[in-house]
Amino acid sequence: MHITLAAGRFVRMLLSALLLSLAVLAHAADAPTGIRLYVIDCGRIDASDMSLFDDSGALDGKPGTMSVPCFLIRHPKGILLWETGLGDAIADHPNGIDFAPGIHGSVRIRLVDQLKALGLKPSDIDYLAFSHWHIDHTGNANLFGNATWILQRRELAAATGLAPPPFESLAPVSAYKNAKMRLIDGDADVFGDGSVRLLSLPGHTPGHQALQLQLPHAGVVLLSGDLYHSREARRLRRVPRVNVDRAATLASMNRFEAIATRTHAKVVVQHDPRDIALLPHFPAYLH
Ligand SMILES: [Zn+2]
Repeated sequence: MHITLAAGRFVRMLLSALLLSLAVLAHAADAPTGIRLYVIDCGRIDASDMSLFDDSGALDGKPGTMSVPCFLIRHPKGILLWETGLGDAIADHPNGIDFAPGIHGSVRIRLVDQLKALGLKPSDIDYLAFSHWHIDHTGNANLFGNATWILQRRELAAATGLAPPPFESLAPVSAYKNAKMRLIDGDADVFGDGSVRLLSLPGHTPGHQALQLQLPHAGVVLLSGDLYHSREARRLRRVPRVNVDRAATLASMNRFEAIATRTHAKVVVQHDPRDIALLPHFPAYLH
């Protein structure tokens, strides 16, 4: 009798252990098994005079269009938003607004609506990072006060210092004061597994950086930030006029290209609409 009871208890223990492992497996199947990169339309810039973006003078008086993407990275350990675009408030102006003489910004579709299409609210974003704090990258930053802001100490110091770089208004980023912050000096590994890395590439601004992703199928992807503003700028190593340190920018280009060559990376020049057009159309993703 006692033996039968003990055997019964043992079978029940086995069964509950089996059910528990099945539950764990089912949960694991729900979570993304790899990393996904979504490209989000965060506006566009139309300039009647691109002279700000090339100090050689080659673009003086010439018109141009720049894409303004945001990128959402879904990693099993959390969600990172890279860049926040021109700002959803601009969508209220169907014809856009002028940022500077001859520099026109417009937002066709709001970032919050695109997050909603993925079933996300701004408060679901775990980590926020920017290539730099120019206003075409910080427009929606204050939506993400719940996220951990990963900031280059030098970028924060410059923007909050006595002589902030041009186009680095603090108003769109004021939520940093109350947000959880991870201050970094140089490169950083966002999730600790080498798959999502911030690359320190100063020059355009004091704390400018790019993002390096190691995707399961697509391989290494490098998101340029504003190291280059177009494919031609990359090919010709053109430094923009809006820039704080020319020598540092050229050194950053050298470093970026060495990494791109070594890793056989797919390089995305964020402000070049041709590069954005080659990426999966939202809500499709690269993985
Ligand atoms: Zn920019």
